[in-house]
Amino acid sequence: MKIRNTIYLDHQATTPLDARVLAAMTPYFAEKFGNPHSADHAMGWTAAQAIRESAEKIAALIGADADEIVFTSGATEANNLALLGLARRAMTGKRRRVLYSSTEHKSVLATARALHECFGFTCEPAAVTEDGRINLDLLHGQLGDDVLLVSVALVNNEIGTIQDIQVISQIVRAHGALLHCDGAQAPCAMDLTSVARHVDFLSLSAHKMYGPKGIGALFISHPLHTQIEPLIYGGGQQGELRSGTLPTSLCVGMGVAATLFLDPSAETERSAVRSLRDSFTEGVIESGWPVRVNGSLSFRHPGNVNICFEGFAAADILATLQPRLAASTGSACTSGIPEPSHVLRAIGLSEDGATSSIRFSVGRHTTADDIGEAIALITDTLKQLTTAGIARSA
Ligand code: PMP
Repeated sequence: MKIRNTIYLDHQATTPLDARVLAAMTPYFAEKFGNPHSADHAMGWTAAQAIRESAEKIAALIGADADEIVFTSGATEANNLALLGLARRAMTGKRRRVLYSSTEHKSVLATARALHECFGFTCEPAAVTEDGRINLDLLHGQLGDDVLLVSVALVNNEIGTIQDIQVISQIVRAHGALLHCDGAQAPCAMDLTSVARHVDFLSLSAHKMYGPKGIGALFISHPLHTQIEPLIYGGGQQGELRSGTLPTSLCVGMGVAATLFLDPSAETERSAVRSLRDSFTEGVIESGWPVRVNGSLSFRHPGNVNICFEGFAAADILATLQPRLAASTGSACTSGIPEPSHVLRAIGLSEDGATSSIRFSVGRHTTADDIGEAIALITDTLKQLTTAGIARSA
């Protein structure tokens, strides 16, 4: 599907709002606009009920209870709430170390830095292997009875690596530490219906799952509700964990987006996306240009491929492709900052390799025609750059 003549292969940056989600949200803007925290009238009750139902849907997506869902503005805030909220209540405890995988999203990396700089926690990266999975032996060695929390993204946003969260959970829990999982990229990649039982916290973002921007959620398992210091204080909404009037329409949108992944068609969609991603990868490889796929081919988000175009700068390729094809270098949040991806560096790529790499992510509306056209556009672009002498020497 072309969006204004652009082939959109950047679904890990954001997804379009699903039409069914938009339809469900619409009445809550101007018609059912009551404040969900207005306890004195029926309009408030209607909005509150819609939010409760949305929390139930999100909880069902991950196998949790509705009252374990705290709405946030997105996964960035959810990650901040998990790490900062927990650490700020654990300042005087004996567990003063936090571990995070070296390939985490910046919203975890920067929060870990703040935990160190503002609250004196020791925060250490946990190494990954060449395929992007946590090195379990090293993790084992790093853990101890002074570790408060381990933070691991279930699905990586750049190379799509899926972690074995069940095994990580066993190792982390054996040391009495807690596990936070950034699940922002997970709903499109895998079934999540049993994930909650393996983790203590799980972050989600609606705009990565065909829902609206500006809403996300943090799953906080029951026993930990009293161990989180809020980041936002106010009227005490959401069990005092995150104050502020909830945006009913956004909550409803996220709930419906979650429900769509509970339908059996979600697995069919993942298979279709995987097969389009595979034919894209094959097409680019068969074009004869020197390319390499970054990261493991197994344990991978079905829509993700990250390709190194040896001898070319990714920024040149993407600029030449505009406006016909949307893909990205690393995560959208990092674009604009001229530094090679820390994720690609962590799995062993050189600086040149990292700056030559592009993430393509296939999604719900991508067609076989899009894939064919994208391959042709890329091949043509590489030819143009070579002819213009813009390809850098490999
Ligand atoms: N974590 C991961 C893994 C992500 O991919 C993103 C979005 N790039 C975020 C967190 C931040 O999500 P949001 O945009 O909802 O703040």
